[in-house]
Amino acid sequence: MRFRHGRAAAAALAAAAVIGLPACSAVLGEEESLLDADTLTVGVKTDQPNLGLEDGSGGITGFDVDVAFYIADRLGFAAEDVEVTGVTSADREEKLISGEVDMVVATYSITPARKTQVTFGGPYYVAKQDVLVRAEDTDVRGVRDLEDRSVCQGEGSYSAVRISEGLGIGIEQREAPSYSACIDALRAGEVDAVSTDNLILAGFLAEEPDAFRFVNNPFTDEKYGVGLPHGDVRACEAVNRAISQMYQDGTAEELLEHWFGGINPQLVVTSVPQFEGCDPT
Ligand code: GLU
Repeated sequence: MRFRHGRAAAAALAAAAVIGLPACSAVLGEEESLLDADTLTVGVKTDQPNLGLEDGSGGITGFDVDVAFYIADRLGFAAEDVEVTGVTSADREEKLISGEVDMVVATYSITPARKTQVTFGGPYYVAKQDVLVRAEDTDVRGVRDLEDRSVCQGEGSYSAVRISEGLGIGIEQREAPSYSACIDALRAGEVDAVSTDNLILAGFLAEEPDAFRFVNNPFTDEKYGVGLPHGDVRACEAVNRAISQMYQDGTAEELLEHWFGGINPQLVVTSVPQFEGCDPT
């Protein structure tokens, strides 16, 4: 992020110089926020179809990318000042903390543990965890049938833990660098199932409808947050206003319809999710 040198800020800094105060954010009366920058770098996934996927010509497309650009626009950033860059489940916190990215829109569930490192706007969508198996595997009818089976999760994600620790089901937990790597392992017969958010599984299933079967036994609420630097309450509140507007003006429905309506109409929702609140923990 590059900081804006707006007229108000410049005037305040000049006044600070005249009266001999340090030119710190306290003089401006507000904490530092990404809202004061003139460029915005947003982390998105690059290997999840319909959510964030590299298109082969240098671009990244999908629902999360569109949500990121909508929010950036409402925060006052012109499209040419917004850069999207790849993040993985494992490096989202690290990249926000180091400042490599200013914002993360990447199927990023809000959890109490993550909230200690990241401030979350939203959620902008509430997904449900579900299960994908190979098409010929007709035995798995629900999450309980995963007992003693190998289940893959992307590194840095917590989907498998939701089954083992959350539901007390004894799975053989496997990990791959990403969910696309889990899908490769499932296709190759190296694992029995991939369990994660229905939105993610829907994207992969749409690419290979004959290879996989969606179990359709939803469990858990996966609240997709907009990851922000810890404590940037001003940005969080602005993001929440943008998300409300995205639902009010019909954009959320339009985007969900565009990316998921043809796969599963149940994934298209029209009302804004209940926000978590911006207070840092
Ligand atoms: N939403 C889940 C999580 O944040 C799984 C998907 C992901 O890791 O991106 O852990």
